[in-house]
Amino acid sequence: MLILGSHVSLGGTDQFLGSVEEAIAYGANALMVYTGAPQNTIRKPILELKIPEAHAKMAVNGIMLDNIIVHAPYIVNLANPDLEKREFAIDFLSEEVRRTEALGSRILVLHPGAHLNQGVEKGIELIIQGVNAIISNTPSSHVRIALEGMAGKGTEVGRNFAELAAIISGIKDKSRVGVCFDTCHSHDAGYRVKDDIDQVLTEFDAVIGLDKLLCVHVNDSKNPLGAHKDRHSNIGFGELGFATIDKVVHHELLVNIPKILETPYVKSEKYPNKSYPPYKREIEMIKARKFDPDLIGRIIADHETS
Ligand code: FE
Ligand code: FE
Ligand code: ZN
Repeated sequence: MLILGSHVSLGGTDQFLGSVEEAIAYGANALMVYTGAPQNTIRKPILELKIPEAHAKMAVNGIMLDNIIVHAPYIVNLANPDLEKREFAIDFLSEEVRRTEALGSRILVLHPGAHLNQGVEKGIELIIQGVNAIISNTPSSHVRIALEGMAGKGTEVGRNFAELAAIISGIKDKSRVGVCFDTCHSHDAGYRVKDDIDQVLTEFDAVIGLDKLLCVHVNDSKNPLGAHKDRHSNIGFGELGFATIDKVVHHELLVNIPKILETPYVKSEKYPNKSYPPYKREIEMIKARKFDPDLIGRIIADHETS
């Protein structure tokens, strides 16, 4: 069965219970959350996240714990040249591993880091040190850190399979690390996801190993192959197109891997400050295996009565 969901929010009074309810409303059987705002590191205590209530709701609706993904905030940088900031990142991410475990998830997606002009080798070295420190801070944890392949904008590390493999090769306990494959990022990084996904996966297997693949981020891309931009597009409305996404999502080598949409909210034309989550309609379309050219209009119509 297709394991498909989206990024959902976590916050307000319902916390993780609200995240699960949001996923159910989208018809999803997987979900990904940030444990608070992705752009900051302010986090609530685990006991306030309404985890037991969320798990009860998941059980009733047939969502398995295995299909919960947590995404670390993207502002912490294990490759920061500033030692204090690196130490903060290690402490924060060690806590994040504990929160991930408490949420019932075993996969924490992490952007490896940005070397900020120290050079990619130095970046890789610092990321290895950081991930090893996080793992030794959480020795009994079952959570695996899924290093996300990046588009290669700025000084991002992990912009190709070789860089991800280099990081993994330095990790002492390799059972605690894996990789998250993002279709938009890989395309932007120059991998021919559109024309030859089979070859891309063959290369992934040769360089990293498919056994390391823990999560797939399913996004279309606003930019051409190799653009190094990282601008996600709604499914079927970008450079990858619906046929590519359909192929990836149903690929026989990826069946057991949770697939998560991180496509952009659709902006209202009537109300300049409003935008709407596309996930219910995108999930519907992906399951139907047929492109809907009116998808965007339909998403707006779901939220605006004319
Ligand atoms: Fe990400
Ligand atoms: Fe992603
Ligand atoms: Zn991205």
